[in-house]
Amino acid sequence: MQIHLKAIGCRLNEAELEGWAREFKADGHQVVNDANEADLMVFNSCAVTQQAVRKSRQYIKRIQRDNPTAKIIMSGCYASLNSEEAAGALGVDLVVENKQKDQLVKIATQELNLPVMPQAATEPGESSLFQRGRQRAFIKIQDGCRYRCTFCIVTVARGDERSRTLEEIVAEINDFHQQGIQEIALTGVHVGGYGSDLDSTLYQLLETILRETDMPRIRLASVEPWDLPEHFFELFKNPRLMPHMHLPLQSGTNSVLRRMARRCKTADFKALVEQARATVPNFNITSDIIVGFPGETEQEWQESLAFIQEVGFGHLHIFSYSPRSGTKAATLANPIPEKVKKERSKILHQLAQEMKLKTLAGYVGHQVEVLWEGEGKIQADGKKRYWGYAPNYLRVAIDVDPEQKMSNQITAVTLKSVDLEGECLLAH
Ligand code: SF4
Repeated sequence: MQIHLKAIGCRLNEAELEGWAREFKADGHQVVNDANEADLMVFNSCAVTQQAVRKSRQYIKRIQRDNPTAKIIMSGCYASLNSEEAAGALGVDLVVENKQKDQLVKIATQELNLPVMPQAATEPGESSLFQRGRQRAFIKIQDGCRYRCTFCIVTVARGDERSRTLEEIVAEINDFHQQGIQEIALTGVHVGGYGSDLDSTLYQLLETILRETDMPRIRLASVEPWDLPEHFFELFKNPRLMPHMHLPLQSGTNSVLRRMARRCKTADFKALVEQARATVPNFNITSDIIVGFPGETEQEWQESLAFIQEVGFGHLHIFSYSPRSGTKAATLANPIPEKVKKERSKILHQLAQEMKLKTLAGYVGHQVEVLWEGEGKIQADGKKRYWGYAPNYLRVAIDVDPEQKMSNQITAVTLKSVDLEGECLLAH
């Protein structure tokens, strides 16, 4: 069969898609990029915000319109929280909830009576990642979370923590390396909780990956800023572990963090960042901030802003709070008017951009190794521009002769200036 796989939302959804692609190919099916060519669609949905819910529904309706004969499987957080609606009103052929998604291909084969033709399976050859224009593989290391941050629906949709075994993860990484992938990002719901159900830890996992694989570049996707083992940052002395962490702070004042039921106070967060910066040169910290959380007074806002400025971040993802039904925060009193949320978001975006450009400017003149991604774009001067990331996840661009192929190459470059428009560094 011709199968099209699509995910929206988090990197974990993307990592799961890659796992299903490999399994379907092993059963002799073909993974296709064009949804209109597919006999079977697999959609990994998202429900982190109301907007994500809308997008999930719209995507299903669109594929039903554009490819009415295709069978549709829906998984992911929206499907898990609204399985009846997905199977009923939306009329998908099969709903696989998050707790069963590791078995999705088996369940689909049984329930939809899919043919299994391992003899037709093609050599893994070119990774379907490359076919989808990607050079970085997301590796799912664990699922679920034991915490209950009051704004978070993910912990509800994905359930308790469960970790993949060290052996499984190492085997998958070595597979990707054999297929030519040079960079991976370890992802999960509560990455710091890896191994809590296996008597293991994230530290042990990273040590094992560094010892038992030759993957040149290893990244961590988003990691909650707690439950990190002692001496954690010592691991980054190995140059294969990229010196960047995305540590969601969410708010810069303890009274709001308390209403969010976050496990990290501002002093703990600051201590963690200082430890990282003291242990590893050029360590880049990025974060998530929610503005306009219920009850956020002007004073709390000012405290939060001051703390964010004091810590300093290479990049910020800024979210205006939107109530998510099914979460505790959606029932909290004193919602912040949209106008005020907009103002605060604007101010924080300005600060975030200042901090980002200051961070970038600090690297002009440095030599770094960049993994170039994507197909490149012809510029006005006829040169082809490629983008990639430095080890500490700063975005870098380079202009080369149009016939030069850079995709999936790692090259050492000198950072010559800041491209204000592209908010990246220019290299030569
Ligand atoms: S730790 Fe993260 S995944 Fe867990 S409840 Fe909080 S925000 Fe959600």
